[in-house]
Amino acid sequence: MSLEKTLSIIKPDAVKRDLTGKIIAMFEEKGLRVVAQKKIWLSKEQAGSFYDVHRDRPFFGELCEFMSSGPIVVQVLEGNSAIELNREIMGATNPDQAEPGTIRKEFALSMTENSAHGSDSSETAREEISFFFSGLEILQF
Ligand code: GDP
Repeated sequence: MSLEKTLSIIKPDAVKRDLTGKIIAMFEEKGLRVVAQKKIWLSKEQAGSFYDVHRDRPFFGELCEFMSSGPIVVQVLEGNSAIELNREIMGATNPDQAEPGTIRKEFALSMTENSAHGSDSSETAREEISFFFSGLEILQF
């Protein structure tokens, strides 16, 4: 186990339904600490730039519309094996396939409106954290 940082996003469907506190509690209960956090509202272009890797996928347009449809909470989570742990706590992309007790099983509305994002590798985590945060905005213990 190693101490890692990962990028987490509470997506517009969850922020809109005031689930932010409940979702953060799920991370904290499993040992992930919030070391940077802000609530922002992305433009469609900014959402497209964040999800650039999916630009050629059929769901890209819908994903960008959704991610720019309201405020999101972007945060850096820190903890042992934070990247994998965050994804376990989120559950599968498709909420129908997510394990009980995961964020997506409990809260997601659909495959697109699936309440949370988490980086999927250490390289992606580094890129995604620096997409949203400068070094000065991240707490160092
Ligand atoms: P994640 O890492 O579990 O978020 O999944 P991906 O990186 O593969 O996809 C990014 C986001 O695009 C997902 O969280 C969904 O919101 C959306 N998405 C992925 N695959 C599909 C799909 O097949 N259909 C739709 N409608 N949305 C999808």
